[in-house]
Amino acid sequence: MDLASKIRPIYDYPIDGIIFRDITTLLKDKAAFKEAIDKMAEAFYEEVDLIVGVEARGFIIGSAVAYAMGCGFVPVRKPGKLPSEKISSEYKLEYGTDSVEMHRDAIEKGQRVLIVDDLLATGGTAGAVVNLVEELGGEVVGLNFLIELVDLNAREKLKGYNVKSVIKFK
Ligand code: IMP
Repeated sequence: MDLASKIRPIYDYPIDGIIFRDITTLLKDKAAFKEAIDKMAEAFYEEVDLIVGVEARGFIIGSAVAYAMGCGFVPVRKPGKLPSEKISSEYKLEYGTDSVEMHRDAIEKGQRVLIVDDLLATGGTAGAVVNLVEELGGEVVGLNFLIELVDLNAREKLKGYNVKSVIKFK
């Protein structure tokens, strides 16, 4: 199936000149959603203990991939959302910074972790999640995305890590 054709482009959203890739059109298509998740779940042959998914679309994709692979799931959230003791990691935006948080007891030393999100753009978010996992002693087996915006060169930022994606847009 042409999974790229199931993603709806929203022009000039959230600001002029940006094409937002809307995954809701893929999610509601049962055959496309299944094929996308199956492809992501088959992409890594390595042993994986935990999938780490990023709020909010990373929860949808990440928990489905975790179920398909038989792994646990750890949520990464925007600041102030997690109830227990947490660690945080900051990353750069075009203007200013943002941060993500994870529970301090979410990952045990040596656990093998696959990071999952809906979309890889600049790699800022993914890099911050790598830092959270490694701060807790987790081993990053790889990073797995439904969509990759290849022209933004996130792979440069994530050098040394095994990065895979199902759908690529320029
Ligand atoms: P990055 O940190 O620049 O790689 O941006 C990736 C994050 O922004 C992911 O968590 C995505 O969910 C979100 N994101 C950026 N652009 C889009 C888009 O076009 N569609 C959906 N999510 C996006």
